[in-house]
Amino acid sequence: MYSYEELMENLEELRRAYPERLEYEVLAQTADGRKVYGVTVGNPNAEKSILIQAGIHAREYMTSQLVMKQLEFYLAYEKKAQYHDNAVSELLDKVCIHLVPMANPDGIAISQYGLDGIRDARIADKVQEWYRRDFDSGATSYRLADYLKYWKANANGVDLNRNFSYGFTEYKGAADPGAQKYKGTEAGSEAETRALMRLTKEVRPVLTISYHATGSVLYWDYGQTGELRSSCEKLVELIQSINRNEIRYASNDKQDAAGYGDWSVMELRIPSVTIEIGVGAAPLAANEFDNIWERNALLWAVLAEYAASR
Ligand SMILES: [Zn+2]
Repeated sequence: MYSYEELMENLEELRRAYPERLEYEVLAQTADGRKVYGVTVGNPNAEKSILIQAGIHAREYMTSQLVMKQLEFYLAYEKKAQYHDNAVSELLDKVCIHLVPMANPDGIAISQYGLDGIRDARIADKVQEWYRRDFDSGATSYRLADYLKYWKANANGVDLNRNFSYGFTEYKGAADPGAQKYKGTEAGSEAETRALMRLTKEVRPVLTISYHATGSVLYWDYGQTGELRSSCEKLVELIQSINRNEIRYASNDKQDAAGYGDWSVMELRIPSVTIEIGVGAAPLAANEFDNIWERNALLWAVLAEYAASR
């Protein structure tokens, strides 16, 4: 289990080891007192950038482990490694990578440690109330420990990937806070959501990537048309060529909306692909990691080369 504490430790270690290539900052403070970090890799003044976010759905925390391994791998090998005719270090000079490795640290702590993962006693009380309500209404048949293990939301019981503005009104989901599918009182009600929106608007990346689990598929279709559609299609085919995930053509579903990808493509007109890693149910079993790594190790080089050519 890759935890918030390990993430903080690893960020500090990597910054000490690669001070000239890595910076990070706090993008948001969460309800349960954690921080959402934004990491800048490569040349911060590069003209082109890409944005990768992971760990927005709590139980999908292996995505955070994956992007942190990508981070370490590219920092360690950028001078020795080459992709096509370019040294990886040259790609990272031309294209800055903005990484949000754990967009939902509170939710991840709930999924990993249950009630022990909650710092604020008032939040722990609320979470247990939501569980009792969902159990009594038949919305869940899990015992409490499993309800928390399969948690997707943040510590306010809001599904962060249903809290973005595109499609927010149409999306119904759950009526009340809880483990999943509750979109919040309004779009951008959550600090984690606002942090991602602010960062994306500030850096205007060439493309955005959202890591989720599970199913080994790629989502890209939000109903976009014209040139935007063809550039998104090119991007998803490029990603498919390295990680062999199956491309899904119909995610233009209003009951699957109000996510980061929808917002990125439809409101900011920035090409965006959602990569779902793994095959089992989330939380993914630890023994899936090697295969997931093998399918995703090349991603940063591939995307940096693509962004450099835009
Ligand atoms: Zn997800």
